[in-house]
Amino acid sequence: MRKYDRKRVLVTGGAGFLGSHLCERLVADGDDVLCVDNFYTGSKENIAALICHPRFELLRHDVTFPLYVEVDEIYNLACPASPVHYQSDPVQTTKTSLHGAINLLGLAKRVRARILQASTSEVYGDPDSHPQGESYWGHVNPVGPRACYDEGKRCAETLFMDYHRQHDVDVRIARIFNTYGPRMHPADGRVVSNFITQALAGEPLTLYGDGSQTRSFCYVEDLIDGLVRLMASDAAGTPVNLGNPCESTMREIATRVLAATGSLSAIEARPLPEDDPRQRCPDITLARTLLHWSPSTDLAEGLQRTIAYFIARLGLAAVDTSDAHRPRRAVVS
Ligand code: NAD
Ligand code: UDP
Ligand code: UDP
Repeated sequence: MRKYDRKRVLVTGGAGFLGSHLCERLVADGDDVLCVDNFYTGSKENIAALICHPRFELLRHDVTFPLYVEVDEIYNLACPASPVHYQSDPVQTTKTSLHGAINLLGLAKRVRARILQASTSEVYGDPDSHPQGESYWGHVNPVGPRACYDEGKRCAETLFMDYHRQHDVDVRIARIFNTYGPRMHPADGRVVSNFITQALAGEPLTLYGDGSQTRSFCYVEDLIDGLVRLMASDAAGTPVNLGNPCESTMREIATRVLAATGSLSAIEARPLPEDDPRQRCPDITLARTLLHWSPSTDLAEGLQRTIAYFIARLGLAAVDTSDAHRPRRAVVS
């Protein structure tokens, strides 16, 4: 493709878990990619394979400050996503969602770029409607410890819709449900990475509450494909759920991780965090219809790939899971 035919795509939060996979996909698709990140939870390691690529650029920048660049499309992923990290500096989390959205929408308006917001199933809060469809307005505690994230993302959606209606900005809103896979940080704090690193280290798996709460886990590659399809679609100004509708309890996830790693770790009960949603499962009818998208990686396969990633990253030797009597211990080489 000639230089002036290529799309210039900005990915904020591009050095994070999802962002780095998205940058890789866009570069592979032939786009020019500008990755913007302040490395709050992301790292250069995540984008190490792209750093020398001629169609990839990296800019250290905090999206709460204005950004003047010339691009054709913007994916706004900048925001910590793990409860541990977004609650450790809640004011900065809200600023990132709100000031970040305003700055990037201002940029999109000036350069007439299409812009996609990485929103979240957390806009539904602790849902009293199940599964969650896009027309459900949610059940969010506005003053609880999760509010910096939930309300920040809700208000960002409001800003996206108002820039669309008031300034005719071409917006897309993806409501992303729990996603997992390679490049989650070992200290990310979310359940899949916690359980896998604990199982591989032979440490107890920390199960919060009685483990009956549910989530629906989507493999990263499937999710990225959904984001790219949504950006390319004509779904302007319509929030779209992206996730895997296969729902599991957290106790089931712990049991699956133990079986898949061959670990003999115990499962240890810990207190349930405040406002932890009881159940979550996406209704993806809209994504199926509008984007012809649905996830294709099942949980067993996705967990195997994620476990293989952590084994390599932590410098461990793989264990034969048929040898159920051998306890799994971390052996850092
Ligand atoms: P992540 O924490 O790995 O990535 C977030 C990235 O944003 C990091 O690289 C971080 O350094 C960067 N960042 C944070 N604040 C910033 C700021 N002020 N300026 C510039 N960069 C900043 O999380 P993730 O799982 O990759 O999530 C990416 C996006 O997707 C987030 O917006 C998150 O809310 C959304 N999302 C993710 C999930 C999921 O399950 N992974 C679910 C729903 C929504
Ligand atoms: N902005 C930016 N890059 C641009 C254009 C705007 O970061 O290329 C920021 C700028 O800080 C501005 C915000 O986006 O305050 C909102 O822009 P908008 O044009 O909507 O409003 P205004 O400039 O009137 O505040
Ligand atoms: N969870 C758990 N043990 C952990 C981490 C999380 O049991 O070590 C639970 C948590 O209470 C929640 C679910 O797993 O019910 C998903 O948590 P995560 O932080 O991954 O995502 P979110 O709550 O944002 O959906």
